[in-house]
Formats: sequence, C-alpha cells, structure tokens
Amino acid sequence: MNIILVGPPGAGKGTQANILEDRYHAKHIATGDMLRAEVAAGTPIGLEAKAVMDAGQLVSDGILIRMLGSRLGQPDCAHGMILDGFPRTVPQAEALNDLLAASGRHLDAVIVLDVDEEALVERISGRFACAKCGAGYHRSFHPPTQNGICDKCGGNEFSQRPDDNADVVRRRLVAYREQTAPILPYYAGRNLVYKLDGMAPMDEVTKAIENVLRQVGVAAPA
Ligand code: AMP
Repeated sequence: MNIILVGPPGAGKGTQANILEDRYHAKHIATGDMLRAEVAAGTPIGLEAKAVMDAGQLVSDGILIRMLGSRLGQPDCAHGMILDGFPRTVPQAEALNDLLAASGRHLDAVIVLDVDEEALVERISGRFACAKCGAGYHRSFHPPTQNGICDKCGGNEFSQRPDDNADVVRRRLVAYREQTAPILPYYAGRNLVYKLDGMAPMDEVTKAIENVLRQVGVAAPA
C-alpha cells in the first residue's frame, strides 16, 4: 500500500504511521525525520535546512523532491510506504505522482487528520523524546511510566525538538494552511481524499484509518 497522511503539525501523523508500519509492513517515511538526520550529521542539506526548520518554514521543494526520490528507490519501500510530512506543497505532490508512476506504483489514499488548531499548540509544546532510542512522550498525555526513565530502553535523557515551541508551532500552522492545505483539492480531484477526526482517541483514529484502507482494498497482512 502507498498512502499519505496529511495534517497540521501535531495531528498525530507520526504516531499513526508508526502503528500502521508494523501492521501493514509498509515503510514509514517522515521527511521531517530525514531532515533532522541531515542536520544532526551536519551535511550540506542539513546546514541549509536547519535555519528554515527552526523558523517553522518549509525547506525548498528541490531539496525535498531529490531527497524523497532517492528514498523511494530503496528496497525497504518496495512493499509500500506511509508518507508522513510529504508532500507539503502542490509541486511536491506533482513530483510524487511522477516518481510513483515512473516505478509503476500508485497512491491508495490520502488520509487527512482533521484537528482543532488551538489544541495543537498544547499537544506539540508538551512533546519530548528519549535521547537514546527516540521513543516519543508527552508531558500531560503520555509521560513515561516511571518519571525520567524511558519505557522502551531505560534511558534517562530526553530532548525536545527546537521547533516544538509555541511561537514556531504557530508559524508551522500558517505554513500548513497556506502551502500544504492546497494539496487537498489536488488529490480530491483524483478521489483519493479521506478526512478523519484526528481529535478522537489514538486507537479510534487507527481504527478509522484501517476502515479507509479496507474501503480502498488494502488488507492488513495476516
Ligand atoms: P515535521 O517533522 O514533519 O513536522 O517537519 C519538521 C520541519 O521539517 C518542517 O517544519 C519543515 O521545515 C521541514 N519539512 C519536513 N518535510 C518537509 C517537506 N515535505 N517540505 C518542506 N519542508 C519540510
């Protein structure tokens, strides 16, 4: 299966993509994570992207399209992918079309997680992750079981993304409304858009996504 999860920052795209990745054996591709890896490695792309990301703006289409093009060609994407954070502009959506068509693939669905923007600022500014294994937590909604200790790996250091503060989040929401939301009419014209309530509890959102996948003929492997 090849699907796109769309929604403003904090809508739960990454959380849902992680769950679906295990169930459907499709690769979770998060362009934000790829860019953060470039920043951490100090590559030329990372150096160019960092200031833009820290300001809550979008990195250039050229960089993203090249990065995604080479990622989709890797063997772990052959069984399908769950795109999280790409495409974020209409030119990226058009490029994705070409990339998929060139490799004989197609999109099964574009799933939109609809959320209340006011709630997002709280959701995002409370997020943090284990510095060792990357497991995600939230100060109010999903703290580690034992304060200060990662549930997954026992690590005791945590970090917060530099762009997860209230000011930058508001700028990321503007970028979503102005640059990313216009991809929805583009995909609606291809009958691929399914809007779901992203404010529902996490497992209900997963169920709703699985319903859509059944509707479009994608079954979870046994
Ligand atoms: P995310 O982790 O998806 O919230 O992305 C974090 C930041 O990375 C965004 O605010 C953008 O600056 C940048 N970014 C990630 N994906 C894209 C994309 N497809 N196009 C442009 N910028 C992106």
